[in-house]
Amino acid sequence: METNIDFCKMKVVIIAGGKGTRIASVAADIPKSMIPIAGKPVVEYQIELAKRYGFTDILFVVGHLGDQIETYFGDGSRWGVTISYFHEQEPLGTSGALPLLVNQLTDEFWVFYGDTMMDFDMEAMLQAHQQRGAKATLFLHPNDHPYDSDLVEIDEQGMVKAFISKPHDPAQDYRNLVNAALYILNKDCVSYIPEGKSDFGKHIFPSLLTHQLPLAGYVSSEYIKDMGTPDRWAKVEKDVLSGKVARLNRKYPRPAVFLDRDGVICKEVNLLSQKQQVELLPGAAAAIKQINAAGYLAIIVTNQPVIARNLCSLDDLADIHKRLETRLGEEHAFVDAIYFCPHHPDKGYPEERVEYKIECMCRKPKPGMLLQAASDWNIDLQQSYMIGDRQWDVMAGEAAGVKKSVLIETNKADALLHAINELL
Ligand SMILES: [Zn+2]
Repeated sequence: METNIDFCKMKVVIIAGGKGTRIASVAADIPKSMIPIAGKPVVEYQIELAKRYGFTDILFVVGHLGDQIETYFGDGSRWGVTISYFHEQEPLGTSGALPLLVNQLTDEFWVFYGDTMMDFDMEAMLQAHQQRGAKATLFLHPNDHPYDSDLVEIDEQGMVKAFISKPHDPAQDYRNLVNAALYILNKDCVSYIPEGKSDFGKHIFPSLLTHQLPLAGYVSSEYIKDMGTPDRWAKVEKDVLSGKVARLNRKYPRPAVFLDRDGVICKEVNLLSQKQQVELLPGAAAAIKQINAAGYLAIIVTNQPVIARNLCSLDDLADIHKRLETRLGEEHAFVDAIYFCPHHPDKGYPEERVEYKIECMCRKPKPGMLLQAASDWNIDLQQSYMIGDRQWDVMAGEAAGVKKSVLIETNKADALLHAINELL
């Protein structure tokens, strides 16, 4: 990896001060990070992950029942890492301890929450952090309940624009991007953390944004889940045992289902150009929920010549996609990414935007959007599917080399659901 940071020396700070209150029925007397998953504490998976990527310098922030963590892990030598401990005298929230141990931090460091099960490509996230010149990078992902999650808004370059805390204004639409509580921070951020109790999501990141520090969002669908409730704990254990947690690491190619948008997910109207026109087709959310559950990426690839024809601005299109993601989220479904082609080859209309009137590589039937997605998300095209309602969808899928392309009827209720039931 090309990097100007001696990344092996980057410290991994594991916040493990929390009590296990909500999960008391599973484990009453142990810290949340020591909750056993398939025979070992959840935080042990984190230490193994860090070690696998060469990060061997671990700093635990412990509080309630923290001695148990120290007794179990000791100096870390059994795991091939070096572990030190910071004992909180009082609960300081997720970020409050950092100013007290600033002298022990490396210039850049990781922040893990100890009660989270995760497996992700640490190298890829670090690269994204460096490429964007960010002072902090937040791991963001879509989830199946965005309506009651704290959300993050990012711009086209992946830089954070806003934090949208719950409860949400029901009149507003949002992208489904949830702060997963996994960060890379630069030490400069620590000077913005006040003394006493504080929380990264609630206080620190919004404050860094106000102070115009560049914060980046790293969007990924790798596995990361907290152990908040007994239900989730049971699900996480199942995912560990089935190999799902490890399999979703970005370094392993994943299959995707590529989906056309209009006439397939939302109702085709003549040149959809305003968010008010967004209407999910019956069965579309249920179909996408199945794609999510099956471990496939759900990726929209849509021709949007409305941009070239100047019937719709890029902001309008972003609003349309926010509404689409909000509606899907209400039904517990999410797409991992949306790719659109803004171009159109035919020039000569009075209102057109000439910069988009080009022969591009992304307009279906060309496979450009699928190939770009494959590169961005490490997609195994040969195990992937394309579903659309036009011949150009099928041709784009075939040109990209997907396993199968399926043509469904435009605006037909449950057509997508039937197609998914056949394929997955
Ligand atoms: Zn294009």
